[in-house]
Amino acid sequence: MVGVVVTGAAGRMGREVVRAVSRTNGMTVVGAVDVNHVGEDAGVLAGVGPIGVVVRSDLESVLRETGAAVMVDFTAAKAAVQNIRTAIACGVRPVVGTTGIPAEELAELSRLCREQGVGGLVAPNFAIGAVLMMHFAGIAARYLPAAEIIELHHNQKLDAPSGTALKTAEIIAANRTNEAVEDRTELEKLSGARGGSLEGIRIHSVRLPGFIAHQEVIFGGLGQTLTIRHDSISRESFMPGVIMAIKKVLELKEMVYGLDKLIFA
Ligand code: NAD
Repeated sequence: MVGVVVTGAAGRMGREVVRAVSRTNGMTVVGAVDVNHVGEDAGVLAGVGPIGVVVRSDLESVLRETGAAVMVDFTAAKAAVQNIRTAIACGVRPVVGTTGIPAEELAELSRLCREQGVGGLVAPNFAIGAVLMMHFAGIAARYLPAAEIIELHHNQKLDAPSGTALKTAEIIAANRTNEAVEDRTELEKLSGARGGSLEGIRIHSVRLPGFIAHQEVIFGGLGQTLTIRHDSISRESFMPGVIMAIKKVLELKEMVYGLDKLIFA
């Protein structure tokens, strides 16, 4: 039985993880950590009824007392970095969905994992469809180098652009065989109208109530466009990826970035 500690257990994604792990054979929630809803049963919060695991705020003691094998983190960037450090120090494998962690912090956490021989996984998107969208975008970029990304999320999201959009832009940039085709905008009449740019790939972030997580990658060529779109219409969409990561991280000896590394391995 794989023991899982969920950090951010009272949040939107954390509750979904508690639900998914509780319903999966071979794994169980042994600890729940959050700064909110402390003292409440994590299963009740998640809507699966009492599981006898109350939300606590002291991650290190929870990890040590429960003997957890895996920590699943969906919190916020700053908190996640601290949580991952604590997990690595306790020999607990981190599975991280929190976005907005700076690249240099990720590099440092990756170094710590290697040093301690602790496996880990950081994925900006756990939805299999989103991983495929990024993969297909990489293929399209070989033939159509001009691309823009529009990502759409709920208005409670803290970071912009999304981790998925940044990762998609990196993949497109790495796969382009020709120079990106620059547009000729000389005057941005409203600052930000052309979005942010990563290696010449424009990213536009929409934040509105009603959305969960959506992305369109639009490629343009001579007399044609190609649009690749993925929609997470419920947070359940992320759970098969999270469950797969919990199982596979047990075999890893270092930190891996991106669910694609597990799917296409
Ligand atoms: P949320 O605000 O609903 O939940 C975050 C939870 O973390 C809150 O309950 C908060 O109290 C808790 N928290 C904050 N600091 C903490 C700390 N130091 N220790 C313990 N708990 C702490 O947010 P959400 O919608 O669940 O999203 C969480 C993160 O997951 C965001 O970064 C979001 O972008 C990311 N996300 C990733 C994916 C993916 O597939 N990788 C999918 C959806 C969301």
